[in-house]
Amino acid sequence: MIRLQGVTRRYKSRAGERVALDNVDLTVGKGEIFGVVGRSGAGKSTLIRTINRLETPDEGRIFVGGVEITGLDGAALRSARRGIGMIFQHFNLLSSKTIEDNVAFPLRLEGRPAAEVKARTAQLLEQLGLAEHAKKYPKQLSGGQKQRVGIARALACEPQVLLCDEATSALDPETTEDILTLLDGLNRDLGLTIVLITHQMEVVRRVCDRVAVLKDGKIVEQGATADVFLRPQHPVTQAMVAEGEDDLDPTTVPAGATLARLTFRGQGTFDPELSRVARSVGVDYSILSGRISRIRGEPCGQLLVAFTGGDAEKAMTELGQRGVIVDALDVATLAKGAR
Ligand code: ADP
Repeated sequence: MIRLQGVTRRYKSRAGERVALDNVDLTVGKGEIFGVVGRSGAGKSTLIRTINRLETPDEGRIFVGGVEITGLDGAALRSARRGIGMIFQHFNLLSSKTIEDNVAFPLRLEGRPAAEVKARTAQLLEQLGLAEHAKKYPKQLSGGQKQRVGIARALACEPQVLLCDEATSALDPETTEDILTLLDGLNRDLGLTIVLITHQMEVVRRVCDRVAVLKDGKIVEQGATADVFLRPQHPVTQAMVAEGEDDLDPTTVPAGATLARLTFRGQGTFDPELSRVARSVGVDYSILSGRISRIRGEPCGQLLVAFTGGDAEKAMTELGQRGVIVDALDVATLAKGAR
């Protein structure tokens, strides 16, 4: 649905040249929810804005739905943009227009007949639970309601792709969950392809099928969300995934212990494999840290375990044979904050 080939964007200023995107290749499949994460200044906004040509790359080509967006101008570009909806962190609603008129705005711009505009607007307001607010103005709505209006407006022209630029970053956790449930449903029910950029890792865990990590305008890592989050390879990804979790204090590791990170995925997450193996091998274990959660609906768990008083190597081999992913760690690595 979306393909970026060798996309580079440079900004020139008095301070010199800044490469915001550096030879980026990226493919997003039809019906995927694709997340792009990275620190502030990594190039996320620039990346998402090139997809609908709010930014024009200096080099490279971008295709959306098979059409080369980078090859279009004027009316052809405007027409292609209608197939790409966008929502924003601060909603970007027209404050002097009612909710109804905000949603109708892109339809009117497109010159659709008045009766069609009316019917489609009413349908969108109903679909997004906004019907009772039709005659209100944006300032009378909560943040979550405003983002719903943003989504209704973005969907007005029935786009194939929805771009979300930090769409939940200004919302509280409960409202964020509400908007993510909504996006998830639109993806499922309409087959809508969604690209979202965010600095909130929980958003990616919750809804993204795949994720790419940007650093200094380059993609340093990408893959299925669970693969990237459970075994991050690049230091930037490791640091972002570990955010909000306590660093492990190496002094808490029992003397002479063998350390391992155990990763459980799918329904096996809830099986008592660790205690079974410990009992059969005759080894003790201490859980130093751990998290059981879901990534894009898939149960998964990760435990940092210290084995003592028995054959730790054998226990690790047996866990591997039972489908647990086992990564051996050493105390020195832990002390450096690596996961
Ligand atoms: P992110 O969204 O990840 O925070 P951006 O895409 O906004 O990153 O920015 C990437 C880099 O490009 C940053 O160094 C930023 O300062 C620079 N940049 C972005 N927009 C402009 C602009 N309009 N003019 C000059 N530099 C810009």
